[in-house]
Amino acid sequence: MAISVFDLFKVGIGPSSSHTVGPMRAAATFVQGLTDQQLLDETRRVEVRLYGSLSATGVGHATDRACVMGLMGEWPDSIDPTSIGPRIQQLRESGQLLLAGRNSIAFNWLHDLLLLDESLPYHPNAMSLHAYGENGLLSEQTYYSVGGGFIIEAAEAESGIAPTSEVQLPYDFSSAVELLALCNKHGLRVSELMMANERAWRSDAEIRSGLLHIWSVMRECVEQGLRHEGILPGGLDVPRRAAKLHRSLLEIGKPNVITSTLSAMEWVNLFALAVNEENAAGGRMVTAPTNGAAGIIPAVLHYYMKFNPDASDDDVVNFFLAAAAVGILCKKNASISGAEVGCQGEVGSACAMAAAGLADILGASPEQLENAAEIGLEHNLGLTCDPVGGLVQVPCIERNAIAAVKAINATQMALRGDGKHFISLDRVIRTMRDTGADMHDKYKETSRGGLAVSWVEC
Ligand code: SF4
Repeated sequence: MAISVFDLFKVGIGPSSSHTVGPMRAAATFVQGLTDQQLLDETRRVEVRLYGSLSATGVGHATDRACVMGLMGEWPDSIDPTSIGPRIQQLRESGQLLLAGRNSIAFNWLHDLLLLDESLPYHPNAMSLHAYGENGLLSEQTYYSVGGGFIIEAAEAESGIAPTSEVQLPYDFSSAVELLALCNKHGLRVSELMMANERAWRSDAEIRSGLLHIWSVMRECVEQGLRHEGILPGGLDVPRRAAKLHRSLLEIGKPNVITSTLSAMEWVNLFALAVNEENAAGGRMVTAPTNGAAGIIPAVLHYYMKFNPDASDDDVVNFFLAAAAVGILCKKNASISGAEVGCQGEVGSACAMAAAGLADILGASPEQLENAAEIGLEHNLGLTCDPVGGLVQVPCIERNAIAAVKAINATQMALRGDGKHFISLDRVIRTMRDTGADMHDKYKETSRGGLAVSWVEC
């Protein structure tokens, strides 16, 4: 399957790409199907069934609200996040849901949105949607939300055949070995090779403006995160920290990144905290490659752009392209879903991607870039997903800050070498896949193990 940079970096909303963005897209796709089949006006009732991890952490991850918004015909990239709360409130009070924005039907939150204590075989993030008319079932569909906002329909998943893309890439690759071989054969940097591949979908101008738009949404997300104070929603009473940290860093002044590493690191922390606090509050986000890990890539890129006087829009474009090359390898050969392989798939993949993006714009050779990504991922292997209360807050918010700093360090270590190293990126990705397969389900976005159960002191 050909994966574009725009599949990995998608505008959406918080707090989760697999549990919020994916389910909203699934529900919106389902009602679009009802409209296309001219079944919308006959529909009298809809039922949503959530399985596995979508059920276990669905309320904390706002899966229920996302499904309802999708049924109303909203999509994650265009919905106004501030409109969700009031519309949910109105629905709860009236008991009426405006299906696809035009067919008003009765909706009972308890009976029409079911959190089931069972799993479906293909993937832990499963949901089914059912539409009923006067005389019974009109339509039903099962979807799997496989991470990063990607959704797969049941027939596709159960056939065991990976979805194919019509697009033929000039430099198709499925492993880091193939990627490096193509770069060396054609004398291309990783970002240049990715740019050539992207041209299979769109023009240079569209690629550039699309990636700069992604960057502008990331910047706005940080700005919002620096503006908002108070307590994050969800009941854990986690205080926002970014605004206060920003004020103290402004008092200290702009760091000299050469002599004041600690101060520079605090700015990296700040950018990650700002993004992840916005994510936890359900704000406008970019999946990078997921929402839970959405702070790492913008934090590293903000750091580079803010403190490098020569930084340019070209750097932004190349950063995203090179980061996406590593994201593609993680997605194709392991997973970027916390429900499938634990947090190593989310935060680990994002750390490796950020390290690769930074390495590319700092002039790394393809081998050094592969080394940077390998270091970034290797030191997140085994990381479990155990969000307290099913909310994307503890440990997720701080974990992004730590991983952003780790990504910069990974790049620095790789740039000091010649690209030769002991374990290849391909092997580390394979190890992530195998470790994820061995990981107990309670550590894979179910909130049934780890910090999620040990945070309450007796
Ligand atoms: S622990 Fe990691 S994978 Fe799990 S929700 Fe948090 S960021 Fe996502």
